[in-house]
Amino acid sequence: MSLLVLRDVYKTYQLGGVEVQALRGVSLTVRANEFVAIMGPSGSGKSTCMHILGLLDRPTTGAYLLDGQDTGGQSDVELARIRNRKLGFVFQNYNLLPRTNAVENVEMPLIYARVPQRQTLASDALTRVGLGHRLHHHPSQMSGGEQQRVAIARALVTNPQVILADEPTGNLDSDNAAAIMEILEAHVRDHGATLVLVTHDENLARRHADRVVRLKDGQIQDE
Ligand code: ADP
Repeated sequence: MSLLVLRDVYKTYQLGGVEVQALRGVSLTVRANEFVAIMGPSGSGKSTCMHILGLLDRPTTGAYLLDGQDTGGQSDVELARIRNRKLGFVFQNYNLLPRTNAVENVEMPLIYARVPQRQTLASDALTRVGLGHRLHHHPSQMSGGEQQRVAIARALVTNPQVILADEPTGNLDSDNAAAIMEILEAHVRDHGATLVLVTHDENLARRHADRVVRLKDGQIQDE
């Protein structure tokens, strides 16, 4: 089934009176339970593509269908609800709240979704990523690999259909990077989730992904 469909998407940013064309006619279909890696040089449009797939931004022209639904006609409030219900995000710089401990960070998407028993769910998610002994640590008291595992627990705690990971291993050494990939792939395997991952690591993409999509100057090169 086609879960994520971009149809001829253009994205233009206005930057000090100058137009920057970040995406120029991108069409991409990701099926349910697929693992797609997105690669390409800096500035090629990878993050823009992820922001659109993640409903954090809208195409300038073109369409984005998520799970059969055209997202173009939906309000920002509706998109936020879909984002919370269906998508999980992992970023290169972890994006954790600094003055908040691990459990509280992981509880955030559950608070928004008004899910009960948040502490238990958050603690369980942290235990699954191997951080049962770090529940009350703050981000500054944890290593990069641990912080990224907190971010992954936060992304997975709502059991999202789709995980969008923008260079999640970019700041990590190879051991920690391998552990992060293991956790993401286990979620894909065990929950039938879909994973879209931006990476600069050619080996990682080839070894782990079902398919590699290459962007250059805002266009897909080959699939
Ligand atoms: P990548 O993730 O591959 O490095 P990006 O999607 O971040 O590429 O950027 C693609 C192009 O769009 C670049 O030229 C970048 O400078 C530009 N761009 C990205 N975001 C913005 C923005 N918010 N405002 C203006 N230009 C942007």
